[in-house]
Amino acid sequence: MTQDVRSFAVTVDGGKLSVRTYGDPSKPTVLLIHGYPDTQAVWDGVVSELVDDFHVVTYDTRGIGASKGPLFKHGYTLERLADDLYAVADVVAPGLPVHLVGHDWGSVQAWEAVTRADSAERFLSYTSISGPCLDHAALWTRSGLRKPTPKAAVRSLKQALASWYIVAFHLPVAPRVVWRLGLAKQWPRIVKAIEGTSVETSATLSRDGSRGVLYYRANMLPKLRHPQERSTSVPVQVLTPTRDRFVTPALATQAPAPWTERLYVRQVSGGHWIVVKKAALIAERVKEFVLSDIVTPGGPEPVRSLLRAEARQGTKDRREFEDKLVVVTGAGSGIGRATALAFAEQGADIVVADIDAVAAARTVELVELLGARAYLYTVDVASAEAMERFAEDVRTAAGVPDVVVNNAGIGMSGPFLATEVKDWERILGVNVWGVIHGARCFGEMMRERGEGGHIVNLASAAAYTPSRTLSAYSTSKAAVLMLSECLRAEFSRYGIGVSAICPGFIATNITRTTKFVGQSAEQQERTRQRITGLYRRRNFGPEKVADRIVAAVRSDKPVVPVALEAKAGRAIARLSPALARRMAKIDPTG
Ligand code: NAD
Repeated sequence: MTQDVRSFAVTVDGGKLSVRTYGDPSKPTVLLIHGYPDTQAVWDGVVSELVDDFHVVTYDTRGIGASKGPLFKHGYTLERLADDLYAVADVVAPGLPVHLVGHDWGSVQAWEAVTRADSAERFLSYTSISGPCLDHAALWTRSGLRKPTPKAAVRSLKQALASWYIVAFHLPVAPRVVWRLGLAKQWPRIVKAIEGTSVETSATLSRDGSRGVLYYRANMLPKLRHPQERSTSVPVQVLTPTRDRFVTPALATQAPAPWTERLYVRQVSGGHWIVVKKAALIAERVKEFVLSDIVTPGGPEPVRSLLRAEARQGTKDRREFEDKLVVVTGAGSGIGRATALAFAEQGADIVVADIDAVAAARTVELVELLGARAYLYTVDVASAEAMERFAEDVRTAAGVPDVVVNNAGIGMSGPFLATEVKDWERILGVNVWGVIHGARCFGEMMRERGEGGHIVNLASAAAYTPSRTLSAYSTSKAAVLMLSECLRAEFSRYGIGVSAICPGFIATNITRTTKFVGQSAEQQERTRQRITGLYRRRNFGPEKVADRIVAAVRSDKPVVPVALEAKAGRAIARLSPALARRMAKIDPTG
């Protein structure tokens, strides 16, 4: 980090603010506002990441850290806090607009500042993290109460529960006494326990915690009682941490929508103190936003997730997966093709991947007929190198996917002793390694990007239904099911959901390509025809599986048995394994 740090005080009405500036003042200024009960030190990690490209400024807000402020709550209204913010901006960047970034209460203050009438002259952009505009929040809550739907009630209840501490802060005397008596000492331990993040304690924490209560008392009730309609034309990026315990994504993203001309909402995987724990990620998001042509004319086109957030704004009839990127392997036929089309219908861009180039090209045509964008790739999912190359190509051409459907798979049936090593290698290669490669390559990208995502793996009812004729296929699918459950547990911390789909007997091409080991070519052909006829008569199309896959992503379902036989199989496996064992001896192909 460039060691060009300056510290000085800015005198404001009723206080003196301790300000620090970093880096070259001729570069664009980024002004970072800290939250409660932090000081400007909370930004240290972000400052280090930004200082090579920007003139970075932090300050302790009034009454906090090294800044001085009044003793009573009327000195802490948002109006005064926003005045302070303008005063600092005027000193550090006289006559030049700045980029604002606010966290927690810093975000609340910055909202107040960017929704002033003259804000477009002072601010080039605003990135808000975990702190709503109090007026927007109050209006959003009221609109929920006016049209009380069950969804709105749940969303308001969740936010109310997350805001319990605000009520506590209004109790007379108690919160200030608690801070003074020992909460400050315990604070790092508390944050570590709820967030898994270590925060530095400042020497002033006990005073700051207690003084900061005045921020709440001066503003919460007045804003709740008399919210104003505050708008802004400054481009706003709202970053919503996936595990924020204090501000729900619903509040952070829905409340500002009617009041912002250009709103961009992006998920970031992490907790409330993400500015400490993932400073580099936050700095990267700020950079991407302020350098893009949304904010800086002539800058690069915004990344995909910024586009998506813009499309989301204010449009009620927006399709659910608008501007999302969905990768489907084995998309040339059956469930894969139907899934590609189902996501395309919901507005997603689709990466169509298959080992069969002609079949994949046909799916691309169909996706494009639905008005969606499609990317065509020929890839063998069983090959580690091919999958790594494929994933990199996708990232370069289309970006990091939001959803990956590891669907490619093959069938195999027949006695275990007739199943040769090369048969095992083939089925495990496609059905198991294919899923592993897909989850590894794209999972790593999703984790790195830090905006969450979803991985869908095509398992099968065979994963939990033993059968004397399906040892190889069932083994491969049981592995997929267990892999999915393990990944789900591991990836949830990155905001990545994982679902395993267990379809049942679905009429697709799989019955025509399944290998029946131990049979001659003619016998195999006859068996294929018979099984294909059975599946056709069962009459359960891949579109229904595709709909369930879309629903699984929407509501983050862990395991989805689709057709009746898949549900019944799961029930039997759970309730009566003995019955399942008896049924396993039946040969459905015989
Ligand atoms: P399908 O044969 O109609 O489609 C499978 C697609 O995967 C084909 O386009 C094929 O070219 C492609 N593929 C095969 N090997 C590949 C490879 N190595 N690399 C890339 N692509 C490859 O089959 P389907 O029924 O749509 O099956 C899709 C998935 O659903 C499979 O994993 C299958 O095991 C699973 N499944 C199907 C059923 C069913 O009854 N159809 C039931 C349970 C599970």
